[in-house]
Amino acid sequence: MFNLQMVDLKRQYAKIKTEVDAAIQNVLDSTAFIGGPDVQEFGKELAQYLGVKHVIPCANGTDALQIALMALDLKPGDEVITTSFTYIATVEVVALLRLKPVFVDVDADTFTMNIDALRKAITPNTKAIIPVHLYGQAANMEPVLAIAKEHNIPVIEDNAQAIGGSYTFADGTKKKTGTMGLMGTTSFFPSKNLGCYGDGGAMFTNDDALAEKLKMIANHGQKVRYYHEMVGCNSRLDSIQAAVLRIKLKHLDEYCDARRAVADYYDNAFAGNEHLITPHRPAYSHHVFHQYTLQVKGINRDALAAALTERKIPNMLYYPVPCHKQNMLKEFGGADFVLPVTDMLQDCVISLPIHTELTEAELKHITTNVLEAIAQLAK
Ligand SMILES: *Cc1c(COP(=O)(O)O)cnc(C)c1O
Repeated sequence: MFNLQMVDLKRQYAKIKTEVDAAIQNVLDSTAFIGGPDVQEFGKELAQYLGVKHVIPCANGTDALQIALMALDLKPGDEVITTSFTYIATVEVVALLRLKPVFVDVDADTFTMNIDALRKAITPNTKAIIPVHLYGQAANMEPVLAIAKEHNIPVIEDNAQAIGGSYTFADGTKKKTGTMGLMGTTSFFPSKNLGCYGDGGAMFTNDDALAEKLKMIANHGQKVRYYHEMVGCNSRLDSIQAAVLRIKLKHLDEYCDARRAVADYYDNAFAGNEHLITPHRPAYSHHVFHQYTLQVKGINRDALAAALTERKIPNMLYYPVPCHKQNMLKEFGGADFVLPVTDMLQDCVISLPIHTELTEAELKHITTNVLEAIAQLAK
C-alpha cells in the first residue's frame, strides 16, 4: 500500500518538473556546460540567501572541506579538532592532507560538538576547528567561536546537512549555519536539504582575500589562465547542476518547513514513550532536520531496526561506526580517543524517513509501526 523511502526525490521532482526541465534544456541549448551563467547566478543567489559575502561553488561537499583546509596553508601533523560522530568526509580530508584529526565527543542531546571537550582538546598545535551541524541541527556556535577567537584558530563549519538552518546568538543576532566561522562548506548531494541532480558543493566566506584563494585552489591554483600560483585541484559545479539548484533554492525554506513538520509529527507520536528519545531542539538552533534521529533506550536498537525493516518501514543508522573507529584512521591514532557519548550513540541511534513529500497517512503508518514494534520488543 505504501511505497516508503528514506528520501523521495521522485515526488519532489514531479512538483517542479516543468521548471527544472526547462532550465536543463536551456543549458543544453547554450552548451555552456562548464562555468555557464547559471553557476555565477546560483553563487550570487545562494550568497544572498545565506547573508554571506562569497559563495564559491565546487564539485562536492568533500572537496569543499578539502579546499577550505588547503586554504589555511597547514603543515603535516597540524591538529584539526572535529567530532567523530559525523559522516566520514569531515575527517577523511583531514587525513588526506596529512593533518592530525583530534576527535572530541558530542553532546548526547544535540549530537553536536561538546564545548568542554573542545576547550580541553586545544593545544598549541591546533590549527583548525570543524564543527558539524549534524542532522540539520546547528552546533553551539557562540562558545565554539569564542574559544576559537581566544586561541586565534580558524573555524570551518561543515554545513552539508544543515543548509537553511540558523543559529541565534545570546544577543538575539541570527545567522545562517555555515556563515559564522571563517569558512563554511556544504554539499548538494541529491538527498541533502538543498540537493542537485548529481554532485555539487560550495564554500562560503565573508573574507574577500580568502574567497579569491578558495576560487584559485578549486581551479588548479590559477587566477590568470595557465599561470598557476599554488597547488590546487579541479573542482567545479557544472552548469546543469547550478540550473537545478537555482530552482530548488527558491523552494529551500518551504522544504525546510516540510521537514520540520514531519519532525513535529514524529515528536508528537513518540512523546512520552519510555523507549525513545526524540531529537532535542535547543532554543539557539533552527533545526532543519536533514535526518530525524531517535535514541532507543531499554530495548535493542538493532532488533528494532530489523523489526522495522520486516514491516517495510525504511530506517537507517547514521552512522554504524564512528570515524575514530574506522580502519581508515588507524594510522592517525583514531582508536586512541575515548569518546563515551559517541560510543553510546553508535549503539542507540536510528533514523526514520524524512523528506519534503511525506503525507499524513504515511506518517501515521510509520509511527504506528514503530510503536507496535517497540511494544512487541519490550514484552
Ligand atoms: C554529505 C556530507 C559531506 C560530503 O558531501 P559530498 O557532496 O557527498 O562529498 C560532508 N560532511 C557531511 C556531514 C555530510 O553529510
